[in-house]
Amino acid sequence: MKISTPREVFAGESRVAMTPKSAQGLQKLGFGCVIEAGAGLAAGFSDDAYRAVGVEIAPSAASVWSGADVIVKVRPPEPSEVALLSPGRTLISFFYPAQNKELLEAAKASGSNVIAMDMVPRISRAQKMDALSSMANIAGYRAVIEAGSNFGRFFTGQVTAAGKVPPAKVLVIGAGVAGLAAIGTATSLGAITYAFDVRPEVAEQIESMGAEFVYLDFADQQQDGAATGGYAAPSSPEFREKQLAKFRELAPQIDIVITTALIPGRDAPKLWLEDMVAAMKPGSVVVDLAAERGGNCDLTVPDQKIVSPNGVTIVGYTDFPSRMAAQASTLYATNIRHMLTDLTPGKDGVVVHNMDDDVIRGATVTKDGEITYPPPPPKIA
Ligand code: NAD
Repeated sequence: MKISTPREVFAGESRVAMTPKSAQGLQKLGFGCVIEAGAGLAAGFSDDAYRAVGVEIAPSAASVWSGADVIVKVRPPEPSEVALLSPGRTLISFFYPAQNKELLEAAKASGSNVIAMDMVPRISRAQKMDALSSMANIAGYRAVIEAGSNFGRFFTGQVTAAGKVPPAKVLVIGAGVAGLAAIGTATSLGAITYAFDVRPEVAEQIESMGAEFVYLDFADQQQDGAATGGYAAPSSPEFREKQLAKFRELAPQIDIVITTALIPGRDAPKLWLEDMVAAMKPGSVVVDLAAERGGNCDLTVPDQKIVSPNGVTIVGYTDFPSRMAAQASTLYATNIRHMLTDLTPGKDGVVVHNMDDDVIRGATVTKDGEITYPPPPPKIA
C-alpha cells in the first residue's frame, strides 16, 4: 500500500506529517511512501532529503491524493481535500470531530476511514501516539521563548560589573502538558517560576521542576479542582474569587505570565483580567496559550501580538507548534509512524483497521461511510 503526504494548504502552516526518518520507518512496515513536492521545505526537509531515502516526489496535490491508500497530514482536511477522499482510503490527521460536525459528515459521505490524531485515548499504551501532548509540549516551550524575545531583560539574575540584574519572575497558570513544559523552560533559563493549577495533585510535579506552587487560602482546594479523568472541572465561584484575588496580589511583581488553562469542552476560563494587566509593570509579557479557545486573558486577540496602554505585550498566537516546524514535524511524524505500526500488525504494508483495539477504535471517527464518533470509553487505562 502507498502512504502519501500532501503539502499543508492551511495558510501559514509549516509542519509536515512525514519526515525522511519517519518515511524510513513506514517503509520498514512494508509501505511505499510518496510526498508532494516542497511539502517538507518549511519544516527544513528538502525534496532531495526525501528522495535520498526512497520517497517518491509527486508533482501536485491531485497526484498525491489519487494514488494513495493512506493519506497522512497535519491539519484537518479542507473541503477541497475531503472531495479527494473515497471508499477504502484512510486519512490520518488532526480532525477535532466535536468542533467539525460538517467535516465529519463530509468524511462520512466520502466512504473513507478517518483516524483523528486528536482523539487518540490518553492511556499509557497510547502515549507514543499522543500528538496532542507532543504539540502541547512544543507550545509550552515556545511560549517561554516567545515571552523572552518580547521581554527586554534577562531571565536569570546576574551580578555584572555594570550592576546587579534581578531574575525575571514568571507565573504559569495551568500545569498540564504545555504548562509543565513552560515551567521547565522558564526555570532552566534561570527565572523564578511560580505555577498554579486547580488540580492540587500537580503541586509535586511543579515543585520537582524547581518552581513554586501557588497555594490559595481555600479550605476545599483539595476538591475544587474536581478533576475527572485527570482533567479540570469549572471552579466554584468562591474558589474563583480566591484565585483571582491571589493573581491580583501577584500581578505587580510578575514579569511574564504564561496561561494554559483549559477545561475540556468549554471556552477557556478568563483568569488574567484587564485590571491585572493594568497592574503589571511596563515591559511585562503575557503569552496566552488558550487564545484559540477564547483566551485566559481578557485582552488577548487570537493570532495577534498587542501592547496594552500600560506597555504590557500580550501574545495570542495560536500556531506555536508551527513556529517550531522542524521539531513539531519530527514529533508528529513519529506519532503517526507509531499509529501506523499498530495499524500494520503483519508489517506487510497492509492496514488492518482493528476496531477491537482501544486506541484505533478511539481515534477512528469514520469507518466505511459510518460515523464512529464518539467512541465508547477505553477498556484499559
Ligand atoms: P489541558 O490542556 O486540558 O488543560 C491545561 C491545564 O489547565 C490543566 O492542568 C488544568 O487542570 C488547568 N486548568 C483548568 N482550569 C484552570 C483554572 N481555572 N486555573 C488554573 N488551571 C486550570 O490539560 P492537558 O495538558 O491536556 O492535561 C490534562 C490531563 O491529562 C493531565 O492530568 C495530564 O497528566 C493528563 N494526560 C495524560 C496523558 C496520558 O496518560 N497519555 C497524556 C497527556 C495528558
